Amino acid sequence: MKLLVTQRSVSTLLEKHRLLDAWFPFRYSLNTHSGCLGSCLYCPVNFRQPAGDGATLVKEISLKKNIASLLQHDLHVLSKQLQRLKEQSLKPLKAAYSMHRLIGIGGGYNDFLDPSLPENMPLEVLATIIKNTHRPFILTKWPRRLLAYHASLLALTAKLHKENTHHNNTHNLKQGYTKAEQRLPLVLVSFSTTNNKLSKQIEATTPSSDDRLSAIAALREKGYTVAAILSPLLGMAATTSAKDFADAGCDFVLFAGMHGSLKPALLEILQLPKLPDHLNAALPDSKQLSLKAMQLFYAELQSQKLRIFMPRSIFQSMLSMKDSLAVLFAQLYYKNLYTQDPRQNKNLADSAFRLAAYRLSLMSELEFASRLERHSFQEIKGFSSKISRIIELAALQADFSPFDKVS
Ligand code: SF4
Repeated sequence: MKLLVTQRSVSTLLEKHRLLDAWFPFRYSLNTHSGCLGSCLYCPVNFRQPAGDGATLVKEISLKKNIASLLQHDLHVLSKQLQRLKEQSLKPLKAAYSMHRLIGIGGGYNDFLDPSLPENMPLEVLATIIKNTHRPFILTKWPRRLLAYHASLLALTAKLHKENTHHNNTHNLKQGYTKAEQRLPLVLVSFSTTNNKLSKQIEATTPSSDDRLSAIAALREKGYTVAAILSPLLGMAATTSAKDFADAGCDFVLFAGMHGSLKPALLEILQLPKLPDHLNAALPDSKQLSLKAMQLFYAELQSQKLRIFMPRSIFQSMLSMKDSLAVLFAQLYYKNLYTQDPRQNKNLADSAFRLAAYRLSLMSELEFASRLERHSFQEIKGFSSKISRIIELAALQADFSPFDKVS
């Protein structure tokens, strides 16, 4: 396989998301490049791969130019916007407008820690985010690379912090180290299975599952918050055990659906008339089976006392109150979905929670503040008195008890 790294100019790096979801609770994210060294069979990056055997295949990574300076500029603009919102906001909401934001990195069919990228790029991006008092949230299959960066990340963040302060002295360098230690990146390590043999078959050029699990344990020891995500959830029963994640010390575990549509795609890529038995059993054909599989996996995570979803304690200081509530309602909806009997469709989950998550996600901060002041959430179509009460309890009295059963 040949690797071609090209560069392209862009005018902005940071993206703002209109919708928030239960799994990735951030409004802002960035992608440093497109393309990936990984050869995961189920990934769209590889669906359109030009034909070629291992030797003649050419993979292209298209890297954005001037990433660190673009990012610094975008974060500066973001800080000003957040400051303005804070000034306009209601008193009880101001605390949630701290300037810290969770910045998602990667996930646009690329990997931020892809080893084919320039050595210093991830380091500069992470240090720039932390120096600006935000917190990076990395999705990766190469977590061990972050371990290698650890000491340099602390040193570079401290240096940038010191240069940024009026008194460029040792005290400020120390402050910079403290800041870096307090805002270490959150790491979400991606898996499709924890079975090494199977992992080799379907995601050959990424680190083995065992390597990823041991990197999780090492990152946890250094003070990082680390979660695992199974996506797509191939790894049921024979292929993945929730215990592997518990043993590695994951702070929480996420999982995304198993699409029946992956089956024909995998067959085509593998050039097989039929999938091997273990994969065939792991990939369901219908939505109902997929839900059943997720419910089983959820139960397994619970039996290992593993949390699903990022806990509120992590994200609430990095989202506005409105956005925190949008995420919490989405989590509540999915938590209900995973614990209800799929045969009883009409009781599948409380869709009012889903609607609340959606509407809050799209609502402007100013509308939220105004509705809170006028107690007028019930005027919104689909918002019951129960939903309105939950919102007011949280926003005005910091009472989040209705969400406590999540996870
Ligand atoms: S590592 Fe991630 S982005 Fe890269 S091919 Fe695999 S799934 Fe796709």
